[in-house]
Amino acid sequence: MGNSRLTGDFHTHCRFSTDSDAAPEAMCEAAIARGLTEICFTDHQDLGFAEPGWFRFDPDAYFKELEAVKRAYAGRLKVHIGVELGLVPDDPRLAREAEALARDYPWEFIIGSTHLIPVWIGGRKYYADPADPRDSARSWRHFPSVRALMTVYFETVLKNLEQFDCFHTLGHIDYMCRYQPGTLQPYRYEEHAEQIDRILRTAIAKGVAVEVNTGGLYKGTGNTNPEERIIRRYLELGGKRLSYGSDAHRPEHVGYGFERLPDYGRSRSG
Ligand SMILES: [Zn+2]
Ligand SMILES: [Zn+2]
Repeated sequence: MGNSRLTGDFHTHCRFSTDSDAAPEAMCEAAIARGLTEICFTDHQDLGFAEPGWFRFDPDAYFKELEAVKRAYAGRLKVHIGVELGLVPDDPRLAREAEALARDYPWEFIIGSTHLIPVWIGGRKYYADPADPRDSARSWRHFPSVRALMTVYFETVLKNLEQFDCFHTLGHIDYMCRYQPGTLQPYRYEEHAEQIDRILRTAIAKGVAVEVNTGGLYKGTGNTNPEERIIRRYLELGGKRLSYGSDAHRPEHVGYGFERLPDYGRSRSG
């Protein structure tokens, strides 16, 4: 059964993200062409990268430009101004920065995402992103198996969820598997059931939504992030809040695969 009720894409990027050069207007036009009535921009503010300016933007410039886009599309498309906050745990300075960023601007929607996992090299801990071509070899090479890496990933997601109170939805909770080398077997829910259930139960207890991210349908494993099995488990545990997003960084991916998603019933966007 397809899901024809989804009318908003609540995870999109434009040229304010380090990894996108899309004009916001082009993303809006794509949303309209897809029959959507709402789009939310959620550009990257990833707080854990060491490089200055990497996956950061100037919120004042962002609001100024997107407020103008919002006005230009009024009556045709509802444009929301959000952010994808990339988080790392156990760092009080970053935690204060994230909370302040969330508080000081009128974001309509905040996704809390885990893109970085701790790796130990030469006795020093640092955070690596497997989607970053400079890091992918490092992050995968330092784990003996997919299972070991995903265990660390889910542990990091859980810590971020426990330590931060500044986001509305938990982004793509198995993001790491999107970029794993194709030669490796993907993780299975059953191998991580205890960890994943803890994440889902904690999200429910905190009133944080869980995201159905269709990015994995056009890059990576061919599944949504997370896959249907895990969304069903979330609903089974009593979860009632889902958000939906394509993770589009280009116009052609806005609303990608929404028509193929199962109807999860009580879910809603945003
Ligand atoms: Zn992300
Ligand atoms: Zn994203």
